[in-house]
Amino acid sequence: MTIEQVVQRIKINDPEADTDLVVKAYNFAIKAHGDQQRKTGEPYIQHPLHTAFILAQMKADLPTILAGLLHDVPEDTKVSSEEVKQAFGEEVASMVEGITKLRKIRYRGVERYRESLKKMFLAMATDIRVVFVKFADRLHNLQTLEALDPKKRIRIAKETLEIYAPIAGLLGIWRLKWQMEDICFKYLYPEEYQKLEYKYEIERKVELTQYIQKIKNTLSRELDEAGIKHRIEGRFKHLFSIWQKMEAKDRQFDEIYDVFALRVVVNNVADCYNALGVIHTLWRPNYSRFKDYIAVPKPNGYRSLHTTVFGLNGKATEFQIRTEEMHQESLYGLSAHLYYKQTEPGSQDKPMRWMQEVLEVQKEIKDTGELIKQIKLNIFQDRIFVFTPKGDVYDLPKNSTPVDFAYAIHTDIGNKCTQAIINSNISELSQELKNGDMVEIITDKNRKGPNSDWLKFVKTRKAKNRIKQYSKKFRLSDIKKMIPGLK
Ligand code: MN
Repeated sequence: MTIEQVVQRIKINDPEADTDLVVKAYNFAIKAHGDQQRKTGEPYIQHPLHTAFILAQMKADLPTILAGLLHDVPEDTKVSSEEVKQAFGEEVASMVEGITKLRKIRYRGVERYRESLKKMFLAMATDIRVVFVKFADRLHNLQTLEALDPKKRIRIAKETLEIYAPIAGLLGIWRLKWQMEDICFKYLYPEEYQKLEYKYEIERKVELTQYIQKIKNTLSRELDEAGIKHRIEGRFKHLFSIWQKMEAKDRQFDEIYDVFALRVVVNNVADCYNALGVIHTLWRPNYSRFKDYIAVPKPNGYRSLHTTVFGLNGKATEFQIRTEEMHQESLYGLSAHLYYKQTEPGSQDKPMRWMQEVLEVQKEIKDTGELIKQIKLNIFQDRIFVFTPKGDVYDLPKNSTPVDFAYAIHTDIGNKCTQAIINSNISELSQELKNGDMVEIITDKNRKGPNSDWLKFVKTRKAKNRIKQYSKKFRLSDIKKMIPGLK
């Protein structure tokens, strides 16, 4: 990988991008890493270069790509984040710092796992782009996993499969999720992987590719005739998802029929429905499998029309019909969405607004129990995430109240709180909080201290201790006042 390749990839997204800055970051990183080497024996700079390239593929913005080039500088070299800040500004430096913090995440059993997820959510809440860099970093590390010792390999693969891949899915970055899952599959279940790879890649793919080609030809002709501009791609499901299906349904590979899908990419939403009409005229649809995710998008924002028809020789054949924008979003998720928003003229969307949408998505998915399934969030069953108006996240026990939240922020805020505003509604201090609530605490600086009645409803140990401490101190000082000379 060379810096020219990275620059070229960036220019595809944005011909106007300030690529001098990219070259500057590259030179900065080269100098900082000096003659460090990767475990693979390559010069270290290859790693940040690949990371930046993956980010450019994800259509990340320029500061994110710069952060990708610089992400290992403060951790692994003598150059400090202060120097990064001087050279590239606050925005890039704080992202690099965020990535450095995330590095402390290690998979060591359930406790660690919970801690890791919490850190991820926290990073997402501060700047979602930090998580994108972390994903790109992780993907390249996975691609070079062979160089590590087996024990470390397994640990990284496990952590990726349990934490990174589900979050990538949650954010709708499917391409990344598939790539990560297949690599992890290979290392965690080598025998199953090889067996399936052989069956799929060697035995079936030739036959399937021929079939897909025939369908493509027929459909393309009809779409041309109807005047619908289009592009058709055949897509094979990735190995890990097939294997999961086989496990879940206890089936053999030959019994899993939906191992491929055809994607029809058209110019606009109207043509999506027009193309659907053409497909249904050519082949009889199985209506029970028709899904209109354009009219009703999935919680993570995914949009497309899905239909399965009885194709040539009655073979079940799935089509996914979408516009180019929907297509990019389905591959790169939020980052692509952000990209399209940014390139819309007069767009005011800032990443922060985006974050709020992510949180909305998280809330919704959590409500349907989908997230619990995806991220095994049952570890969190007894925890809730509550947000400050600025977007900081606090992780509290279930049924916590605004008083617990206030003490979690700061003892003084707890001691002086008088009222809470929960999701813009004035609420009692004893009101139970729910996951995703945004809470503002109103304090009264003249307030003497906490009310011991709060002990009846607070849930956290911190709040309990502080309230008890305060009332003890208070009583003691009262007694001292009453009995002069007592120490
Ligand atoms: Mn790295």
